[in-house]
Amino acid sequence: MSSSPSTSNEPLAAPHLGEPYLLTPGPLTTAYEVKQAMLRDWGSWDADFRAMTKSLCEQLVALAGDTKGEFVCVPMQGSGSYCVEALLGTFIPRDGKVLVLANGAYGLRAAETMRYLGRAFTLIDKGDYMPPRGDEVGAALDADPDITHVIAIHCETSSGILNPVAEISEAVYARGRKLLVDSMSAFGAIDLDVNRIRYEAMVSSANKCIEGVPGFGFVIARKSELEKTKGNSHSLSLDVHAQWAAMVKTGQWRYTPPTHVVAAFLEALRIHADEGGVAARGARYTRNRDVMVAGMRELGFETLLKDRWLSPIIVTFFCPAHEKFDFDKFYDAMKAKGFIIYPGKLTVVDSFRVGCIGRMDEHVMRRVVEAAREALAEMGVDSAAPPAEAIAERAKLAA
Ligand SMILES: *Cc1c(COP(=O)(O)O)cnc(C)c1O
Repeated sequence: MSSSPSTSNEPLAAPHLGEPYLLTPGPLTTAYEVKQAMLRDWGSWDADFRAMTKSLCEQLVALAGDTKGEFVCVPMQGSGSYCVEALLGTFIPRDGKVLVLANGAYGLRAAETMRYLGRAFTLIDKGDYMPPRGDEVGAALDADPDITHVIAIHCETSSGILNPVAEISEAVYARGRKLLVDSMSAFGAIDLDVNRIRYEAMVSSANKCIEGVPGFGFVIARKSELEKTKGNSHSLSLDVHAQWAAMVKTGQWRYTPPTHVVAAFLEALRIHADEGGVAARGARYTRNRDVMVAGMRELGFETLLKDRWLSPIIVTFFCPAHEKFDFDKFYDAMKAKGFIIYPGKLTVVDSFRVGCIGRMDEHVMRRVVEAAREALAEMGVDSAAPPAEAIAERAKLAA
């Protein structure tokens, strides 16, 4: 059942039973084999399932590039936000203080999580999409010696911007502070190798670039740092240290694991390795993005971000200024042609997003562009050019 499409001209298998492609950042379109892996029940205490958990953790630590046994992986039940909350609640000491770097919904959610936790934080809010840069992080840390940790969003999925984590990491460690990374929508396709970028812990989930189904996330942490976090957590079920300690002792998850999701994820990891790992996965997504963006630009659409900041994960386009353009109609027409797109999240101008991740390749992306062309024609929109205020907004973004 091996599938290694990256070198072939054959399109990746279409979704099962004619379901639409999900051009969304997760849940996303998964391989048939991933879905098929869920057709069996597993006992969570059984040795077979414990071996699956062990393998999952070992493979994820390897994907982070750790070869020295310095990092460990702790899977946590729930969606990605549960795992971000678990990460923050466990790794920030009760008397610690976090600098949250926000440029979109997920950064703001991290700040909101800190507010719920009732722990000290300060926020750099760059608005809808401006990237937090190393020098301003450095200045914020210099100005406030109480800050112990920084949380950065790797790919801010709400605009699709790829934030400069390497530069942020340097600024953080040059000042003796610690970095945590929300790499939810990037890990597995964009390098976050512990040998190249320093951080104490990162968090991601099953249903993004590894192409599994939703149901759990995971924290990959420096073991020496995780060892210090006992007793920090505000929450029983979201305590990463307690989950880790139980797993080390018994090989089991503390509470009911999403067994079918874990089985599906192992199949997704097998396909990921078969494809060629992080570099090959990232290369496929990059081709997806390049083909899709070039085609959409030919139709007159423009991207929110300049090329330098575009991630290969998801791309934000401005809605056309044309009076006959109606996003809901556009969405329905795209869906009827087999593609589910994603509404935008910008506060200033109307936008929509097209995801590049999931079980699909450039052949599919060409069909996406073709579908967009037809959808515009059906609405009587002869130009997809954005309004002038959208271009003015984008001009604020430095090269
Ligand atoms: C998807 C995502 C999350 C988690 O969202 P859930 O809906 O809880 O899975 C967190 N951060 C980023 C950057 C994400 O893309």
